[in-house]
Amino acid sequence: MTTSIEIKRVEKSNISSVDFDNLPFGSVYSDHMLTCDFVNGKWQSPKIEPFAPISLMPSAKIFHYGQSIFEGMKAYKDKDENIMLFRPEENWKRLNKSAKRLVIPEIPEDIFMDGLKALLELDSDWIPTNEGSSLYIRPFMFATGNGFHASPADAYKFVVCTAPSGAYFGGKVKVLIEENYARAANGGVGFAKAGGNYAAQFYPTQLAIEKGYNQVIWTDDNTHEYIEEAGAMNIFVRINDTLLTSPTSDRILDGVTRKSILQIAEDNGIKTEVRKISVTEVVEAAKNGNLKEMFGAGTAAVISPIAGFGYKEDDFDLPVLENPYASQLKKLITDIQTNKTEDPYGWRVMI
Ligand code: PMP
Repeated sequence: MTTSIEIKRVEKSNISSVDFDNLPFGSVYSDHMLTCDFVNGKWQSPKIEPFAPISLMPSAKIFHYGQSIFEGMKAYKDKDENIMLFRPEENWKRLNKSAKRLVIPEIPEDIFMDGLKALLELDSDWIPTNEGSSLYIRPFMFATGNGFHASPADAYKFVVCTAPSGAYFGGKVKVLIEENYARAANGGVGFAKAGGNYAAQFYPTQLAIEKGYNQVIWTDDNTHEYIEEAGAMNIFVRINDTLLTSPTSDRILDGVTRKSILQIAEDNGIKTEVRKISVTEVVEAAKNGNLKEMFGAGTAAVISPIAGFGYKEDDFDLPVLENPYASQLKKLITDIQTNKTEDPYGWRVMI
């Protein structure tokens, strides 16, 4: 380790109050957090301190102009107590892509990686070992500098918190293909993990939930004729035996799960195509029986199968398959993530 990190430990761990057999997603937090301040034009030394409230002035620019970005990743522990991350460099790079777009200073790789490793080593007892469980990791950065002037702040904070999380059972997800709202526009910030993108998704998602759906399939902002993402996940569609996903763009997040699944699918004999997918094509395929599967892909759920979708006045059910691509690919990727198989790609990073 190269970065010097000041560590202030909790007086008493909170771990005995946690029921590791009944973990909700992302709402129980480990003892410590990593913090690092950007002041006077540079990143200061990172610290590890007890998980606790952060104090800000009401004039902090995060509250007014929304300079806030985040990442989502997971740590796993295998049966020999090895701690592993999955492609963490991708998250570091993407955080900095988001930072650049929001005029937040980029975080150096050593602060991100060494800080994360030190935090995981200190809170290693918080990494669950039950099947399907993991430690969800939330790195984020936001403007702490003050002022009502609409301009980038002069101070920022980088924080990493972690939350032990159980297996994610999405149940039967019914989605609504969106015809009015958009989560992102050309030239906008859709490719960034900016907090505001998610705030803007809540209202259309709430309308979809009121209509009896669980989630929205986002379509392009211009024509609403092409599907782009599934809630806060990338979208995959299987038509006959071909697995399709939309190309990334400045409107679509470049998901780590998405690109890993594409690679694994190709290497396991599944034909893939990265191309625009029109709503008309999906509806036609549903009508003539060629639409076999749809699923979302992202760090939290890994793969979230879609049971049916609504479009305008119609509802369509997807078939229940014996051995869907969704299950095959989920097993292949999680076996790599959790050290149950060889990792021919070098994606697994041991701590
Ligand atoms: N799209 C959006 C909008 C997301 O928020 C996420 C979650 N990070 C994804 C896709 C999936 O990305 P990843 O596989 O890197 O988690």
